[in-house]
Order: sequence, then C-alpha cells, then structure tokens
Amino acid sequence: MENGNLKLAIQKKGRLSEKSLELLKLCGLDIENYSERLIVSAKNHKLDLLFLRDDDIPEYVQDGVADIGIVGEDVVYEKQANITVSEKLGFGKCKLMIAAPSNGMPESLEDLNGKTIATSYPNILKLFLNANNLQAKIIQISGSVEIAPSLGVADLICDIVSTGNTLRMNKLNKSFNVFDSEAVMISNNDLKKNEEKYAILQDLIARMRSVLSAKKSKYLMMNIPKNSLEEITRIIPSLKSPTVLHLADEASLAVHAVIPADRFWSIVNDLKAAGATGILLLPIENMIF
Ligand code: ATP
Ligand code: MG
Repeated sequence: MENGNLKLAIQKKGRLSEKSLELLKLCGLDIENYSERLIVSAKNHKLDLLFLRDDDIPEYVQDGVADIGIVGEDVVYEKQANITVSEKLGFGKCKLMIAAPSNGMPESLEDLNGKTIATSYPNILKLFLNANNLQAKIIQISGSVEIAPSLGVADLICDIVSTGNTLRMNKLNKSFNVFDSEAVMISNNDLKKNEEKYAILQDLIARMRSVLSAKKSKYLMMNIPKNSLEEITRIIPSLKSPTVLHLADEASLAVHAVIPADRFWSIVNDLKAAGATGILLLPIENMIF
C-alpha cells in the first residue's frame, strides 16, 4: 500500500501495545479502534499504523515494509537488524538479568564459566559473555524460561525482570544485570532519502518529545504572603524563575512554576512552612521548547 503515508509498526498485542497507542494519541493523532485489522490510518495525519508481533518489527523496518517502529531495545539488540534508533520513549522499562536458584547463586561473574544458561535472548547473552571473557553454554528457549532450572535443563536463566514476582514464584534470585531496556522509536536507514516521509517522522518525534517532557513536569500554583517570596523561590525546584502575580489582597501573591513531577512531595511541607496556601499541582499536556 504506497500512499505516501509514513508507515509505523507497533506491537499488536503485548506489553508495549497500549502505551504505544496512548503516546500516539497524546501526540494528537486520531486513531480509530483498530479491532483486528492489520493496518489502520490516522484520520488526521499522513500516518499508517501496522500492528505486528514485536519480534518482527526490527526486520520489517530494516526491509522497508514499515518505515518506522516502536519496539523494546531488548528486541532491537537481539535481532541485530540494520536500523536506526531515533528516540528513546521512556516506557516499557525492564532489565534483562541473570537469575539462579538459591543453592546455585554465582558469587562472581567468573562463576558463570562452564554453566548452562537458558534464555530467549541468545544474542544479547552471547555479547555479554564475550565482553566479560566468559565461557558458558547458552540454551535458547522461546517462552517460560524461568522453569528451565527446575526442569534440570539449565543452571541459570537470563530473562526480563521487572518486579521480580515471576522469579520469586520459581524460587530464583537476581544475580547480574545484562541489559537495560526501554521502548524506542526505530527507523529505516534510508528514510532520510524520502524527504516527505522523513519530515513526517521529524514532526512526530518533536510531538513525542513535547509529550514526554510534559509528563515529567507539573504545573505548581499557590498563594503566598508577600514577604516570603524570596524563601518560596528558593524552595521551588524550577529551571526558570517562577511567575509572580498580584492578588486583590495586597499582602499576598500568587506564584506559578513548572517543576519536576517527582519533586512535589519533597517540597510541599517546606512550602507550607513558608506560608503557602491553596497549593495546586496540575498536569501539563504538552511542552514546546
Ligand atoms: P509478541 O507476541 O508481540 O511477540 P512478546 O510476548 O514477545 O510479544 P511482551 O511480553 O509483550 O512480548 O513484551 C514486549 C516488550 O515489552 C519486551 O520486548 C520488553 O521490551 C518490554 N517488557 C517486557 N517485560 C516487561 C515488563 N515486565 N515491564 C515493562 N516492560 C516489559
Ligand atoms: Mg515477542
């Protein structure tokens, strides 16, 4: 289907699907509910969405079946496709780790020598072992890697860990960190040659940056006694100087500032102690620099 639209591949069903669609919607794209269709066009943009298995996305982008794709870095590096990583997207964060049963915990990396490790990421594991000069046998398993040690198939596993619940259920413990992953935007290496499509990608990335930085920030508003302005300004962790507004009540001021979202709870008591009242914290939808 060559209609000049930029073709973006996202995971059809899995851990990245919902967040990928949410990000695209926050970027202002009007995407109808896709139900079971393979391709859906955005109603208000020159963009087609392709819904695929995540394992296939790097290769499809490499071969130009899709122009760009959203996929985990783990899959990008495992597939070793010839593509460009254009932007980190801040969601789908997880770690690829080596884990072992309690009675077989390695104490140092050298203890991995001679061991058998089960994984669905043989390429990333091989690179890790080579980089550390280690000799271990890799057994490739496509799912439920965590049961391999109890089946006697492997001594250790190398798998995705986020909360550690799956490991605990299988009586395994984390040992070494192999790879940190998050969702990334990847693009076909030749996309630059297509000026029109490349411009659509640049526009999309600019929108994504705006959405991602807005998520990290919040809009803080409060009223303060006039004489505590200096102290309040010191407490507010803002890159720019806060906005100060006069109120009808001449003894008070209103102060507004954009702050890092995760700092709010660490400053709220100091703000109150300095006399701030009516403290409001609002979400920001977009931030353009
Ligand atoms: P598919 O059917 O599309 O092949 P899958 O089962 O291979 O799906 P998922 O389990 O949906 O893949 O994971 C997709 C990606 O999400 C992984 O490649 C990884 O980057 C990320 N991911 C995996 N586990 C987690 C987790 N627990 N928390 C956050 N992100 C994760
Ligand atoms: Mg997969």
